[in-house]
Amino acid sequence: MLKKLQEKLETVLASSDLPTRRPALKAHNESNVPGLYIIGDLAGAPVIKLAMAQGFEVIEHIAAEPDAQANNSGVYDLVIVGAGAAGLNAALAAKGKGLRALVLEKSKVANTIEDFPEGKWVYAEPDASPPKGKLWLDGARKEDLLRRWHQVVDENQLDVRAEEGLKSLTKQSDGTFFVVSDKAEYRARRVILATGQRGNPRKLGVPGEDRESVYHRLYSPRHYKNEDIVVVGGGNSAVEAALLLAGQNRVRLSYRGSEFSRIFKDNERKLNQAVAEKRVQLILNSNVQEFGERTVTIEIDRGGHQETITVPCDHAFVLVGAELPVKFLKSLGIHLENEWTGNFLRAAALTLAILAGLWFVGGHAHVAGRALDFMPRWAGALVAASSLAALVWLGTRGDRYCWLAISFLVCYTIYGVKVGESAEFWPFHGWGYTALSVFNRPWSFWYSVLYTLLVTAFGLQALKRWGLDRKDKFQVWRYISLMSFQWAVFLIPEFLFQWAIKYRWVGERLAADPTFADQSWRAYGLIYAWPLFFFTFFNDPHIIWIIWGIALTFVIIPLLVLWHGKRYCSWICGCGGLAETFGDRWRHLAPKGRTSIKWEWMNLAVLVAVVVVTGAVLFKDVAGFLRAPAGWGLDGYHLIVDVWLVGILPVTLYPFLGGKVWCRYWCPLAKLMQLFSKAYTKLGWSRFEIHANEKCIVCTECSRNCQVGIDVMNFALKQESITNANSSCIGCGICVSVCPMDTLSFGSGSGRRQLVQMQPAPASPPHPSARRKSATAEQSLLT
Ligand SMILES: Cc1cc2nc3c(=O)[nH]c(=O)nc-3n(C[C@H](O)[C@H](O)[C@H](O)COP(=O)(O)OP(=O)(O)OC[C@H]3O[C@@H](n4cnc5c(N)ncnc54)[C@H](O)[C@@H]3O)c2cc1C
Ligand code: SF4
Ligand code: SF4
Repeated sequence: MLKKLQEKLETVLASSDLPTRRPALKAHNESNVPGLYIIGDLAGAPVIKLAMAQGFEVIEHIAAEPDAQANNSGVYDLVIVGAGAAGLNAALAAKGKGLRALVLEKSKVANTIEDFPEGKWVYAEPDASPPKGKLWLDGARKEDLLRRWHQVVDENQLDVRAEEGLKSLTKQSDGTFFVVSDKAEYRARRVILATGQRGNPRKLGVPGEDRESVYHRLYSPRHYKNEDIVVVGGGNSAVEAALLLAGQNRVRLSYRGSEFSRIFKDNERKLNQAVAEKRVQLILNSNVQEFGERTVTIEIDRGGHQETITVPCDHAFVLVGAELPVKFLKSLGIHLENEWTGNFLRAAALTLAILAGLWFVGGHAHVAGRALDFMPRWAGALVAASSLAALVWLGTRGDRYCWLAISFLVCYTIYGVKVGESAEFWPFHGWGYTALSVFNRPWSFWYSVLYTLLVTAFGLQALKRWGLDRKDKFQVWRYISLMSFQWAVFLIPEFLFQWAIKYRWVGERLAADPTFADQSWRAYGLIYAWPLFFFTFFNDPHIIWIIWGIALTFVIIPLLVLWHGKRYCSWICGCGGLAETFGDRWRHLAPKGRTSIKWEWMNLAVLVAVVVVTGAVLFKDVAGFLRAPAGWGLDGYHLIVDVWLVGILPVTLYPFLGGKVWCRYWCPLAKLMQLFSKAYTKLGWSRFEIHANEKCIVCTECSRNCQVGIDVMNFALKQESITNANSSCIGCGICVSVCPMDTLSFGSGSGRRQLVQMQPAPASPPHPSARRKSATAEQSLLT
């Protein structure tokens, strides 16, 4: 039962892993093993130019370290594993910096590119940024590019050992690495892993897949003539392989889905045509069971009823993508992102021990009115401190539940105390608020200070990451906006409002009116709209607040949504603000996949609850029977939504499910805006959408970085616009910023007019337009 609970929890917490799992990396691409760096495709660089950039940058960092050189002739400064774009460019940069580097390559130099289909045009995207480092790169035929790279390797006398793969790595007590290859052993000060992912094609794992007639890549389609061929897969590479082979063979395409939802529009059109002309036979909803001598057995799901067929097959191509080489990485001691290892129960027990210890520290440990004075305060402090130390120690040893527990303890304390003096949660009841109300200021004030400082400090970091480093004005303004609104939300109620009353800036009458002057907290409602700011219309508000509350929720927000969709969440709101700043580093952990989207129904439930409770509170004086339910509703909503769903749970989950759990799953205002935006889109009035051109290379960067878990790439591939009728997009623009191909841009629903040019316009394309036209077929072999 408990094991099942832990498994369930892990399924939810690891849901971000679905499409884009990567090794866990720190600054400068260093892995959890100090001195071991990971670059290129393996670290998420989707194209050659970006893989090269990582190779160049990692050497800039390493060369600047005081111990960059080994000072021992038996020890290399660097062993670089993998002679692809990233590894070769790193080796060239290392040479330039005077570092002694050895490159191990398990196959041929630039083996991934060697494996491209004959004559393939290699693109040098993204156009806008020049290549970094000495490795040559321009749009070229694969054969020409390889010729240039071999020339560069020779001219620079790089020490590349081809046909010599890495076998194992051991970190030694003197800090060096003991590197074992197929052929020899080496010692190195640092190791850079640039092995890519392409050498690890995903397999079906069915009998007969290791036969000679079953391949996991298509190299030379023109070699196959008048044969029975089965292609397996639903991505662009499978569809294109089927199309390339269809000209002179009998081709069947088996795919487990009911439709091809991740392929380019042009491929979809060509496939439909080939199917209509009977050049390709589609076998949808199907799973290969076995590859036989000259046959393939396939099971087809016909609406719940399974049927097994056997089709003739001289050659089969299983093209179902590449996999992260998890086993290989683990064997090197490398941690992966979001790995749920550890023991949930142990972490829960330590959490309870800390809270129990704090109970005694507070001196309020009572059961049934009897003081538990058998444990002095110092002993409570010892229990709490040692349990916390155990959590941290276990956490550093890979128990992720311990970090979850620490995150929970911090948030539970902050919000559990903030519920108010003598209303604090156990174990802080009766002492927590006073203890945290330092320097003559209440804890609620220090909470606002802390919140504002977090938004500012991490906002500046995010502004640099997304705005300044990428020269992206949209992101610069967005982060300035978020930080400014947070400062306004802090300064207005805490200072400006009170000064406005004290110095009579609002006029004598208002300043003397207690329903206005004594309720500075209502100034939060200047920016936070009902139903997010739940108390807008409660507790005897001054008419000014009622008018402003109605105008904000029912006039200003709907107008904003008309032009900007749900950008309130990513430009203005403090909840979104903390998620976009403090939560930014974990944005890739947002839950993804269909199930995670289905769960978004929860914010409709919260919206309904808010409407019901607001109605009950407003009408309780005219309908007496509503009085009691209104009271329960208010208390219940405050506890469940205001404390747990806004505060404790989502912030606890920042490092595990990204920053947008509240905004995406529970915020009633987000849902209200979604409903407005959806209606505008359906009526054709909305001015908000993201559209895509045909340049997507299926790198997954956009989907990976979407804080609300939208599969942006899927929209991009189909060149289908993202709106609030088909997604919960909040218009943060990060997908547009990360796309290496400038595929995505904001536009207006009606005229497809470009509203914001997110990146500087790319220089004129380097390839002749004729080449560009043939792009789709070649480019899409990336999948
Ligand atoms: C079909 C296809 C078409 C593509 N077209 C383009 C394009 O047009 N433009 C573009 O920019 N990008 C394109 N890409 C993407 C591009 O290939 C990658 O972004 C790029 O190759 C990544 O470089 P890398 O150095 O990180 O990895 P790789 O180029 O994959 O290099 C990794 C190297 O490490 C070696 N290696 C693996 N394991 C070991 C080991 N244990 N020991 C030693 N060596 C090892 C491999 O043999 C390989 O040579 C395409 C990819 C594919 C699959
Ligand atoms: S789809 Fe893009 S703009 Fe919309 S929320 Fe996701 S990352 Fe932000
Ligand atoms: S649209 Fe997304 S998947 Fe396609 S190239 Fe851009 S970032 Fe990569």
